[in-house]
Amino acid sequence: MKKRFIAGAKCKNCQAEDTTFINYGENGESLHCVKCDFSEKKETEDVKTVVQEWAPIKLPDID
Ligand SMILES: [Zn+2]
Repeated sequence: MKKRFIAGAKCKNCQAEDTTFINYGENGESLHCVKCDFSEKKETEDVKTVVQEWAPIKLPDID
């Protein structure tokens, strides 16, 4: 199984940041938190949506 942490993501359960990862298993993908025991099974489409929501990390522009 593959794990992929989601930078900047907040756990829905314990609200911790950078603790959430997606587990890519044979039966699909699921969200997990390393800090609490949160886990959520996701349909592939949902995971993609979540990743798209969570992926952008805006850094302040420094000119
Ligand atoms: Zn958590």
